[in-house]
Amino acid sequence: MIQKRVLITGAAGFLGSHLCDRFIDEGFYVIGMDNFITGDPKNITHLEANSSFEFIEHDVTKHISIEKSLDYILHFASPASPIDYLKIPIQTLKVGSLGTHNLLGLAKAKKARLLIASTSEVYGDPLVHPQSEDYYGNVNTIGPRGVYDEAKRFQESITMAYHRFHGLETRIVRIFNTYGPRMRLNDGRVIPAFMGQALRGEDLTVFGDGSQTRSFCYVDDQIDGIYKLLFSDYAYPVNIGNPQEITIKDFAEEIIKLTGMYQKITYKNLPVDDPLQRQPDISLAKKLLNWEPKVNRAEGMLKTFNYFKNFTDIELNKRDHKDFSNHIKK
Ligand code: NAD
Ligand code: UDP
Repeated sequence: MIQKRVLITGAAGFLGSHLCDRFIDEGFYVIGMDNFITGDPKNITHLEANSSFEFIEHDVTKHISIEKSLDYILHFASPASPIDYLKIPIQTLKVGSLGTHNLLGLAKAKKARLLIASTSEVYGDPLVHPQSEDYYGNVNTIGPRGVYDEAKRFQESITMAYHRFHGLETRIVRIFNTYGPRMRLNDGRVIPAFMGQALRGEDLTVFGDGSQTRSFCYVDDQIDGIYKLLFSDYAYPVNIGNPQEITIKDFAEEIIKLTGMYQKITYKNLPVDDPLQRQPDISLAKKLLNWEPKVNRAEGMLKTFNYFKNFTDIELNKRDHKDFSNHIKK
């Protein structure tokens, strides 16, 4: 049987690397692409010797040329953590717009099906709760998070335009906060932030009064939802996430119990435009894909903590966030 070929952008990142694993396990030939701006080569070193995997170091905002035929493309390249996209706002806008345009062009040339990674951030600070796909959102276009939110909203629009105008086969997943092994310890997102603080014996930093909510999805569930969506015949956006909602303050307390380290909570200012509530309505994914998350927070957090527990003191104490200087033209 001929092996189907899939291009995964953002392959050295958290979700991209798990997608590479899943597609290889399912028998696909995977071409991973990344420029390492927020990713880590370590996330894919285990695939180096795999004959069903190849890697191309490339910035997807530049023209992409691939000689081999492609059956599927999954576009996951983009900074995803608020501190990342605040540090590299222009790259964030470019990867969502120019990068997506390049991948749509590639998909059209190869007659491949393209799935794009959108986000719950398209709902902004939502006035509707929980968020279902028919909610148009409440985004501050000119706020600091606007660079990410609007790039993703543009990404959805141009993807639908290629679908309607060129008849391209496209899929759009709206991913809600997902966590698990291979997140960058210093990427600033709440789970690695709290786990790093716990392991260093520091206080946990809750932003604002901690009454804002999030709903956390374990990575295996997320990957399964994305996989099922790719092979569905539905071109409109689909939420994939875990509806189990919690306030950030209660979540900090859960982490304190889980880690068994007696840290205190300290309170810092709430970042500008930090959404006050977020919970996916996953009725559509249940109906369409027969998908729902299986891993509850306690189980997923334990697996994630076991991953971070293996970090050396040097890794734990590497305070500086990712150094983006190599990627920024002076
Ligand atoms: P990540 O930062 O771990 O991975 C992103 C990867 O994209 C990195 O390896 C990075 O180097 C690469 N990249 C960025 N710009 C690039 C470019 N111009 N060219 C080539 N590679 C580039 O983030 P993640 O959590 O794995 O997120 C992956 C995707 O999923 C993103 O599109 C993100 O917006 C989306 N998403 C993730 C979450 C989540 O909770 N993890 C939530 C919503 C949406
Ligand atoms: N947060 C926090 N302390 C931290 C990091 C994050 O209280 O050290 C809060 C943040 O303000 C937000 C929530 O945790 O309300 C989730 O933040 P994250 O960056 O993980 O993702 P977001 O959902 O905001 O994109």
